[in-house]
Amino acid sequence: MVSRVIPVDLFDLVIFGGTGDLAQRKILPALFRRFCGGQMPNGARIIAAARADLSQAAYKAMISKAIHTYGGNFANDSVALDAFLDCLTYSRVDATGDIGWPELTTLMEQGQGARVTIFYFSVGPNLFGPLAERLHKHGLAQESSRIVVEKPFGRDLESARALNATLATHFCEGQIYRIDHYLGKETVQNLMAIRFGNMLFEPLWNSQYVDHIQITVAETVGIAGREAYYDRSGAMRDMMQNHLMQLLCLIAMEPPAKFDPDAVRDEKLKVIRALDTVEPHHIVRGQYQAQQGADDRHDAYRETVGNLRSTTESYIALRAHISNWRWAGTPFYLRTGKKLVARSSVINVFFKDAPHSIFGEDAGRHANLLSIRLQPNEGITLKVTIKEPGPGGMRLMDVPLDMTFSEALGAAGGNPPDAYERLIMDVIRGNQTLFMRGDEVEAAWAWTDPIIAGWQSRGDVPKPYDSGSTGPDDADLLMRRDLREWQGINP
Ligand code: NAD
Repeated sequence: MVSRVIPVDLFDLVIFGGTGDLAQRKILPALFRRFCGGQMPNGARIIAAARADLSQAAYKAMISKAIHTYGGNFANDSVALDAFLDCLTYSRVDATGDIGWPELTTLMEQGQGARVTIFYFSVGPNLFGPLAERLHKHGLAQESSRIVVEKPFGRDLESARALNATLATHFCEGQIYRIDHYLGKETVQNLMAIRFGNMLFEPLWNSQYVDHIQITVAETVGIAGREAYYDRSGAMRDMMQNHLMQLLCLIAMEPPAKFDPDAVRDEKLKVIRALDTVEPHHIVRGQYQAQQGADDRHDAYRETVGNLRSTTESYIALRAHISNWRWAGTPFYLRTGKKLVARSSVINVFFKDAPHSIFGEDAGRHANLLSIRLQPNEGITLKVTIKEPGPGGMRLMDVPLDMTFSEALGAAGGNPPDAYERLIMDVIRGNQTLFMRGDEVEAAWAWTDPIIAGWQSRGDVPKPYDSGSTGPDDADLLMRRDLREWQGINP
């Protein structure tokens, strides 16, 4: 199966922070892959802007190296790489001063023909305001321009509101693309296809038939390289408020009337606003420690951040409730953590037992389980009940109906575009469906803030858990109290 390439309109993309880690590891390799995929039209320009005083040759050498490292197999095509580098211009610009703005303005004016103009703010949030102001001052912020802003979008409701207000001074909501790269993942979008493209699931998708839902985003990596940022944020701000919240929205939302940005985002917002406050005893925070018996203490969270008294969580599990007609009474268990036993993002929908077993108690009670694997090994499995083969009477057993996308879809399923490839192309197309709206972000912080404030007022200390484990024991207790258990974390 070959996926269709839909070309985008002619564009100028200015990447502020063009020498930064994100630009080198994600944004430019993603653009290069789209270039190789034939999606970038002739004449499209990428202007990388940053503070460093670099020659064009030095910048191109930097990006060539980055693409060789992060560009995947395409990077071996040196002809394509040279052609891509020809689309690239470096511009020295200071976001907080005057250096480089007249030159950038001249460069922008040289673009011929009607173009989509995009400014990608791949810089710290403290530069969003100065950049927006200078774009306006130099006449670059046109009604048709778009801006892309990176996470984190604030660290609480107040700062998110302030950021929204800053951007709103010069751009309207329809021009602002707030990235949550999770939404760009192929399998995350598949959640909507599975729910709203099949008649099979939707009639059962409610508290009458669903016992509970588990959302797990487990990582094996620690926080090395991001120590200072992470120790000020923790798993709640870094993962739960955005990525897991988005997954919860897609799993729980009502069907939008159409697949249109505001229709989808309206429904997601309703889910966030219907979330109950989470009781303290329904939350477990954890912090990884060195594996039992390991010599290397550097594997412990506190050693890594260089703060032996740090109370920042690298793991969180909680039980959430959505107070609406569809979900009243169905708990949603969400967990995410670093240094866990395996890398695995999966959503498990546990259906209720059949109301009455006609086979008698000896046959065993079995319930259906739908597992949607987001990464790795993307696919879906539906556990169904059948008769255990053999002559020994009517005993039941579970078997998986298993579909791994890479096997079912061949090359197209096994090599989906990176999230950044899709999201950047969507910005150029002007499609905001997979980007967070300002009110969505604020609602997510409004739910998160009281939880964090509660920890702070109680002086809460996270429970230790071993690196390479499934998390703190208390997370299992959270489930056991409800007579349930977590699904295993498998690679
Ligand atoms: P970085 O520190 O590696 O790069 C920062 C960039 O900003 C550099 O190009 C630097 O030259 C530029 N810059 C700094 N001050 C400037 C100024 N006054 N004028 C002009 N340019 C200036 O940061 P990063 O890791 O690339 O992250 C960029 C943004 O993306 C941040 O908001 C970060 O939170 C977000 N983000 C990064 C990642 C990642 O994996 N790196 C992931 C998600 C989100």
